Amino acid sequence: MTWTDRVAERYRELMRRRATHPFSGVCAECRHDWREHLPDQGCSECRYEIDHGEPDAPSTVCAAQAPGHTFP
Ligand SMILES: [Zn+2]
Ligand SMILES: [Zn+2]
Repeated sequence: MTWTDRVAERYRELMRRRATHPFSGVCAECRHDWREHLPDQGCSECRYEIDHGEPDAPSTVCAAQAPGHTFP
């Protein structure tokens, strides 16, 4: 194996990791961070805004599922 093979292998490994851990960004439905989206309860940020009667609170808690695992 030459060093270029190792570099290519390392690069593929990084790409694979990026594909399986896409964790940053916001929900397209409610614009809150994906990390606020709990798998069983929906978006905790939406819930907070509704509970506190914020002017721009959504009418319902966003139930969108994060596109991957959010809590290790
Ligand atoms: Zn959401
Ligand atoms: Zn939300």
